[in-house]
This record gives sequence, C-alpha cells and structure tokens, in this order.
Amino acid sequence: MQNEDGDTMKVGVLAFQGAVREHIDMLSKLGVTAVPVKKREDLKDISGLILPGGESTTIGKLLRDSGLREEVIKMAKEGIPIWGTCAGMILLAKHIVNQDYIHLGLMDIWVRRNAYGSQIDSFIRKVTVPSISSFPLELIFIRAPYVEKVGEGVEVILELDGKIVAVRQDRLLATAFHPELTDDLSFHKYFLELTKN
Ligand code: GLN
Repeated sequence: MQNEDGDTMKVGVLAFQGAVREHIDMLSKLGVTAVPVKKREDLKDISGLILPGGESTTIGKLLRDSGLREEVIKMAKEGIPIWGTCAGMILLAKHIVNQDYIHLGLMDIWVRRNAYGSQIDSFIRKVTVPSISSFPLELIFIRAPYVEKVGEGVEVILELDGKIVAVRQDRLLATAFHPELTDDLSFHKYFLELTKN
C-alpha cells in the first residue's frame, strides 16, 4: 500500500507493551511498513498509529515519560488516524468514569475500565460488524473496557449486549476488543482506509 507520494505507507505501533508484534504482523500482511514506536523519531513519516492493548496506566506513564504524549496529540489534531485497541481505547478517551485522570484525551467517549468485572473478565464472541465486514468476526475481550456514553460526532460501530464496544470519531478509532489476536484482517483494512483522504 502506498502513501500519496507513491512511497510504501508506514504505520506505527506504539511498542511499550502488549500485543505489538501481532499488530505489526497484520499490517505487514496488508502491504504496509509497520514500525514499532518508542520515541519521537519513530513517528517520522507515519500515516497512522495503533495503540495496542496492555495496561493503560503503564502505557500512559511511558507516553508521558518519553515525551510521546504531546506528539501523539499533535498528530491526532493534524488528522493522522489513530486506532486504540482495549487499553488503547482508554488512552484515547476524554473521560474515564472510574478513574480520576486521563491520558491522551482525544475522543469524546466515556469509558469504564475493566468494565466486565472479574466474573467474565475475558471472553470471545462471534458477531457481524456491519460497517467492517459482511461475515461474523471473532471478538476477543481481555479485561476490557466499554463505552458508557458518546459525545457528538462519535459514530457507534458496534454495540454488544447493550454496551458500546467500537467507536469512531473522524479518524480516531477505538475497539474494546483485540482484532490483532484473531486471523481476520477486516479491522486493520478498515483502519488503513482512514489514512486515505
Ligand atoms: N484492563 C486494561 C486496562 O485497564 C486493558 C486490558 C487490555 O488492554 N487487554 O488498561
């Protein structure tokens, strides 16, 4: 896949923690150069950024300590697509209802951390997500958040049992589950579409 200058498109994956390798492999399968991002220089010339799952508190701290937080906020304001999976959704939120601080504060969503509680803190469901694919996709939830409320301009991509689990606001995408842990590329394809004008 090429960017508007005809070069192979580069997409970054924040690489502090979590399912980094899996996202990189999926992007590579789609013909994109996937770059692990740990410092400011790694963001150079990237057309999109994925914030993987992990522990949002830890990733948020490393974002601040590395100076990447401001850079990522700037990128989002410039319209570069960013996709957060699970902990990444928490990082993107402007509101975390059960925590008194936020991280990047970019999406108008009210997120609840560890929302499914300890009984069912990990589970898998197979559902069709109409804007993403015409066939059922495996959705893997691991100590996942969900979205309790969305602000204006936020599109709800998927509600599962009355809970919002996938949202989009302009070029920002957030999923409570982990498409990178499946072998289906539909969500990654959808994200790469956001990099086009
Ligand atoms: N429970 C984690 C958090 O609050 C997210 C879990 C995940 O990314 N799989 O950050």
